[in-house]
Amino acid sequence: MATFRTLAMALGMLIAVLVGQNVIGTFISSSQTMSLGHEDPANKPTQADYDRLDRIIGELAVAAGKGDSWRPRMVIKPSILPQAYATNSEVGVTIGLMRMCNDAELAFVMGHEMTHMLEDHMVKSIFPRLLVLLLSFMLVVTGIVAIPLAFWRENHGKMALYLWLVIGVLALSSFADSQISQANERAADRGAILLTGNATAGADALQKLKDMKRPKDMPYTPMLGQVIWNRAFPSHPPLSARIDALRAEANSIRSVR
Ligand SMILES: [Zn+2]
Repeated sequence: MATFRTLAMALGMLIAVLVGQNVIGTFISSSQTMSLGHEDPANKPTQADYDRLDRIIGELAVAAGKGDSWRPRMVIKPSILPQAYATNSEVGVTIGLMRMCNDAELAFVMGHEMTHMLEDHMVKSIFPRLLVLLLSFMLVVTGIVAIPLAFWRENHGKMALYLWLVIGVLALSSFADSQISQANERAADRGAILLTGNATAGADALQKLKDMKRPKDMPYTPMLGQVIWNRAFPSHPPLSARIDALRAEANSIRSVR
């Protein structure tokens, strides 16, 4: 029995380290990927880049029934990695993504991000995120006392129980967060089809992302814990599943016409 408790404790500690890596890694990677290549003046967005984005978002605004002068705040990040994002008042895209996509593909990506914004996806997913934060904070604070105390008293059973409680709660909340996020991604892809009427362009853009090779000068290699956690609880449905869904949608539109 004592061996079992010690084993459970050791395994719990190992997984706790991986979970910690995921938390730290997520902070580092999101800030680094958004700025990869920013020191190169060639990656600075030009007026032509802003004009192109403005024209595309203007067309989407009309399609969304917002009128042709309506605009969210638009940001172009000087990163060479192809990425886009939306908050509740802002849509952003990297120079890398703008260069990778033709106009129809860029319109689909921005239609996807605008759907996140117009459907308030960020606000709707904030509750599970806050819950994760609050629970993690409480568990970490109590853990700072409980885990060393149990270790010091050589109470491996209690320590194992505590560690597994922490891991279980985080895994459950990450699972919920992942499910909500994936549902939002599918909704944003559907929204982009409605706004652009061009599911094929969406499939083409995602295919380019899928075929892209990881840049050699990537400043940051994800830590093992981050890789495992992201595999277990992905924020996006797999690219291939999204591409298949968009191609199927494009085919069904074609067959109706
Ligand atoms: Zn999205």
